Amino acid sequence: MKQIILGKTGIKTKSIGFGGIPVQRVNEDEAVKTVIEAVKLGVNYFDSARGYTVSESFIGKALKQIGREKVVLASKAPPVDYDGFESEVKKSLDAFDTSYIDLYQLHNVKTVKEIDLAFSEKGAYKAFEKLKKEGKVLHFGITAHKREVLEYAIEKYGKKIETIMFPYNIVESQGVEMFRQAKKAGIGTIAMKPLGGGNIDDISLALRYVLQNDFIDIAIPGMGNIDECRADTSFSDLPLTDEEKAKCEQIKNELGNDFCRRCSYCAPCTAGIDIPGIFTLQVYLKKYGLGDWAKSRYVAMKKTAADCIQCGECEKRCPYNLDIIKRMREIKEIFEK
Ligand code: SF4
Ligand code: SF4
Repeated sequence: MKQIILGKTGIKTKSIGFGGIPVQRVNEDEAVKTVIEAVKLGVNYFDSARGYTVSESFIGKALKQIGREKVVLASKAPPVDYDGFESEVKKSLDAFDTSYIDLYQLHNVKTVKEIDLAFSEKGAYKAFEKLKKEGKVLHFGITAHKREVLEYAIEKYGKKIETIMFPYNIVESQGVEMFRQAKKAGIGTIAMKPLGGGNIDDISLALRYVLQNDFIDIAIPGMGNIDECRADTSFSDLPLTDEEKAKCEQIKNELGNDFCRRCSYCAPCTAGIDIPGIFTLQVYLKKYGLGDWAKSRYVAMKKTAADCIQCGECEKRCPYNLDIIKRMREIKEIFEK
């Protein structure tokens, strides 16, 4: 892991940060141990979100043992209006149990209209300026899954934006030019989903692929247990060989773009189905041929694909536009025939 400076924030950290989605899936004890291990391994950048349920509070509990000042805390929330942003920051401060957050980001901004709102007189940026004066939030960033939205934000409001976060990994390179432009403008660049949402098995290869580019400052793989912390921090800084580049191409061809990143943005399912959990079982079945194992896990689930009432709520929230209802039908066919 290299030492980096996160664009104009001036934050000094390592090139690998702690992605806070997976700790919400383990218990508090395990989450605390995982955060402590990550710090021992040299990680000092922690990314969470209001939407990641207990993630902020679990990280906050670990910080009581580690020392708040030893880490950089980043979080995010969707509201682009003044009151909504201020209120979510307050909830994050309470959940982390801290007096300040280093970086607060607008989470998954979907339209240019929302961007304009965020920077209007009644927008989130004005609230950030107030919170900054109070010492509660130090820096402001934006995350999105739609490139055109971030491009617009950089073009129009780039002087105010200190970081951007966007997917970048072996199979998702649509943000390269935008990252380059951001870097030129002094904006810190954060790669989300560096492991393709857990779909790329060769962690070392995946992280080296992302970090060999000077347009990426930091990658934030999800870490949900001690083994993942170790795997995500033990890769070399060597450039990719021709053989490794060929392997990246092979992974790209095999995965395509139509796969679940396990981000849980589709939650909550109206019928209580664990959508990414069910999709993961389908991957195990297809990719590794673990039929019996996957089936036993499937039948043990409280709600299965058969419970889908096809309301479509999840599809509205999936940033990758996955055809979730159709997949649920297919999975039901596979596992319940
Ligand atoms: S369409 Fe099915 S899977 Fe999606 S939220 Fe509705 S019930 Fe859940
Ligand atoms: S279905 Fe879409 S929103 Fe849900 S976990 Fe997968 S990629 Fe994320």
